[in-house]
Parts: sequence; C-alpha cells; structure tokens
Amino acid sequence: MSAIPVSIGRRMPEARASATLEAHPGAPLIDTHGRVHRDLRISLTDRCSLRCTYCMPEQGNEWLAKTSILTLDEIELIARTAAADGITTFRLTGGEPLLRTDIVEIVRRLAAIKGPDGRPVQIAMTTNGIRLREVLPVLVDAGLGRLNISIDTLRRDRFHELTRRDRLDDVLDGIAAAAASDLRPLKLNAVAMRDVNDDELVDLVEFAIEHDAQMRFIEQMPLDAGHTWDRSRMVTQDEILGTLGRRWELTPVAGRGGAPAAQWLLDGGPHAVGVIASVTAPFCGDCDRLRLTADGQLRNCLFSTTEYDLLPIMRATAGEREREIDGMLRACVRGKLPGHAINDPAFLQPARGMNAIGG
Ligand code: SF4
Repeated sequence: MSAIPVSIGRRMPEARASATLEAHPGAPLIDTHGRVHRDLRISLTDRCSLRCTYCMPEQGNEWLAKTSILTLDEIELIARTAAADGITTFRLTGGEPLLRTDIVEIVRRLAAIKGPDGRPVQIAMTTNGIRLREVLPVLVDAGLGRLNISIDTLRRDRFHELTRRDRLDDVLDGIAAAAASDLRPLKLNAVAMRDVNDDELVDLVEFAIEHDAQMRFIEQMPLDAGHTWDRSRMVTQDEILGTLGRRWELTPVAGRGGAPAAQWLLDGGPHAVGVIASVTAPFCGDCDRLRLTADGQLRNCLFSTTEYDLLPIMRATAGEREREIDGMLRACVRGKLPGHAINDPAFLQPARGMNAIGG
C-alpha cells in the first residue's frame, strides 16, 4: 500500500497511511508509548440535525458519499475484530448518530459482542438529544448502557444562534427522557465559549443536578470545519473552575485513568462537575481511544492528520477480512504519537471537521 492523499471537503486531505499489515488477532492494542487501547469511537454519519457554529458552516459540509458509509454488517465485523483485541467500549457518535435509520439494530448487534473474557462490551452514545425521547426505550432495550447529551445553552435565542436551528425544546425533551431512564451515569456536555455561553456555567451545572446528571465543560478545540479556531476565544479550565469555585467548594476527584474529563466534587459531593481540557491540560499520556469514521477510516487521535483506510478491505470480494482489519488496527495504534500538538507552533489542524471525526 502507498500513502494516497484524498480530498475531504476542499481542504488538503488527511494522508492515507502506508501500512504493512501485521495481524495478531487477540493480542491487546498497545502503542509504542505503552498505552493499551480499550475504547473505539464509531462515527456513524457525518450528517447532523444541527449546525453548531463551532463545528460546521450553515450550509453544512461537503457530505461523505453515501456509498462510502459503512454498513451495519461492516460496522459489526470491525467491532467484533476490535473486541477480540481488547476493545471493551464502543462509543457511537456522528455527526448525529440518531440520524441513522438502523441505529437500534447497530446498538443491538454491538451489544451482543463479548470480549475475550466473555464479558459483554459497553455501548455508549454521544447525541444532541433530538429524537431521544422517541427512541430511548428501544435503544436501552437493545443494549445502550451510557449516554452523553450535548447542550451548550439553556436560552432559546442563544441556542438558535449557536446551532442555527430552533430545537432547544427537543433537546430538553431528550434530556428529560434520559433523566427518567435508568441510564447512569448520565452526562451533559457543553463547549465553553467566551462571550457566548460563559455566563451560563453555573446555570448549566444546576440544570444537570436537577436532572441527576453530571455537567462536563469542554475547552473549545481546533476542530471546526471552517478552521477559524481562535485560542483567545477559548474559555480555559482554570477560568471554568474559577467561575464555579465562586458558587461551590471544588474538590478534585482522584483516579482519572484514561477518562477525558477531570472531575471535581461540588461542596463535597455527591454531585460533581467535569472539565475536558484538551488544550490547556492535555491528558494524552493515558489515552486509550481510537476512532472509526463513518467512511471506514481509522484514526489514532482526534487530531490525527493520517488515516488508516479500512474501506477497501471491507469492500473487497476476497481476502481474510478479520486478519486484515486486525492488521490495520495494529498499524493505526503503532503510528500513534505521544499526544496532540495543539500547543506546538507546527500544529496542523486536521482536514476533517469534528462532524466527520466524532466526539
Ligand atoms: S488528543 Fe489524541 S492522544 Fe490526546 S487524548 Fe485526545 S485522542 Fe488521545
């Protein structure tokens, strides 16, 4: 195989890795920095029912070709192979995963997968909450175990401005449905943005507590399709904690492991808040995550500018697909850098926008 650049939108594409496939089915996926990978994030579609300004332009992006989108069977085969190699959690993302008409069957098929130890894998989802009230009961019945719902503001006008859609009521409805379900821990995610929603941090935490959920704030990352990220617009972890610390006594929670969010107890607990500070407090040293895009590209980092192409393997009429998938997973892990380089002057923002990478 050789490195073949391919266009994503109008930008210079991510490079396609030239990889020698060395398959070792069943062996753990350990990178050259000793990190063991247990979490595969699967972007099911690049399309979304919202148009968040920090993610994509009003008109949307140049969508991935429908023919390139992985089918239910292909997703299942990749997931089975990954589970045999030690992946224990599959997080379904997008774009918006609930736009997939076969979403319930995807959850059902993946939830039926067992790891080498015979234990079922965990199925988690990150959604914008629209359609959740309608499908949550069947998703839970199919095996969905964990849920993160994105909500950046509680104000209708601001929601409309931020997402370019007047759908706040649908999102609140979805959160109410999730709060009424048994799915726990329930997490709500908000991107903290200067002079946009940084005056709602306390309100969002109180809202989460009312819904028996944990609020997590995300430092805005350079992943927007428009490549307009501006560090000065980012609200840092320290600023977020400064604001919350005026309302609650904050106590750091130990034992983060590979989790993206650092946590703080509020007034000694039981409620806590999380902050995902990829820019000012990177946590790459314990990263256990890999990503699969909707068009079959493996990425070893959110900020990777190189992809490992599974589509030819999935669409080939002959060949040992499980061994080749395993080989590509290993090549992807082998190529993983120690961390992102956001704070490095040479940092190159990925060509793919967040909607086509997945959270
Ligand atoms: S930036 Fe990349 S390496 Fe770092 S935690 Fe995120 S996915 Fe892992």
